[in-house]
Amino acid sequence: MNPVPYLDLSRARRRVEPELHVRWQKILDGNAFILGPEVKEFEAAFAAFLGATAAVGVANGTDALTVALRALGVGPGDEVIVPAFSFFATAEAVVLAGGTPVFADIEPDTYNLDPADAGARVGARTVGVIGVHLYGRPFDAERLGALCRQRGLWLVEDAAQAHGARFGSRRVGTLGDLAAWSFYPTKNLGCFGDGGAVTGMDAERMAKVFRVANHGQTERYHHVEIGTNSRLDSLQAAVLNLRLRTLDQDNARRRALAEVYRAGLAGVGDLRLPPDRPDDECVYHAAQAPLPHAERAGGEVLCLPMFAELETAEAERAVEAVRAFYGA
Ligand SMILES: *Cc1c(COP(=O)(O)O)cnc(C)c1O
Repeated sequence: MNPVPYLDLSRARRRVEPELHVRWQKILDGNAFILGPEVKEFEAAFAAFLGATAAVGVANGTDALTVALRALGVGPGDEVIVPAFSFFATAEAVVLAGGTPVFADIEPDTYNLDPADAGARVGARTVGVIGVHLYGRPFDAERLGALCRQRGLWLVEDAAQAHGARFGSRRVGTLGDLAAWSFYPTKNLGCFGDGGAVTGMDAERMAKVFRVANHGQTERYHHVEIGTNSRLDSLQAAVLNLRLRTLDQDNARRRALAEVYRAGLAGVGDLRLPPDRPDDECVYHAAQAPLPHAERAGGEVLCLPMFAELETAEAERAVEAVRAFYGA
């Protein structure tokens, strides 16, 4: 029997390939490589999908975070609170923007930033907080938002693992001052190369985001500040336009697969399965199961195969393999 694939991107590719060829040929014929119609279409569709005011495509998720922080004015001497448990880029972006990351602890059950611990680390130099919706699970935007309002801090969402997730009735990406997205191929909404976006609710701030990502330009060759060059590629935007259409359906499939794991692995060995807050809609970027021993040794998470095209029978085989490991 073939091993269960951790991720098989070719299945996702096959679903969009015929239409993608048409779109890509059009881009080639029109030489619309930079900021073309596919990018405009995606920015409008993604903002509408989230209920955000605007989206600005950028080159990748790390740039999305860095550009968002620069648009918020982060610079030398500024401290930004970030969770101690996330992908490297969350803290890296603070340094790239010129600031200093300050690590706060996570909640043991959700792996997301603990608002109480974040609050305890606010100091005179703190300017903002980055919350990460880790593994597709929304962070507690109510408590973290309240902390930020009380202390006069901005809140940036690192939503790179949570495309389509909901906190209560609201999509993640509409809960803070700005949100940063990655469309790296393995993400819930992924393209076939690098890609990213910043979204936000405030039109003026989003104009600033666009300027920072486009050499500080207000109009062609009119540069009012030092920006950078970070744009979403037209060819990748075409992939995203096609894949955005099925994102909700794909996330529903991930939740169904998570139930297969939940049912099959409950009570096995020392596995603890992540809880589901009934009000929220976790989109299971990866289904995770912490191991208490390994946690003591520095924290360890077991990521199970999780992608929309994974077959139920494959998820069941993954369950069998884990059960066999534990002799269950
Ligand atoms: C993937 C990811 C990023 C960075 O995205 P890239 O597109 O790889 O630069 C940032 N934060 C989190 C939580 C991520 O998972």
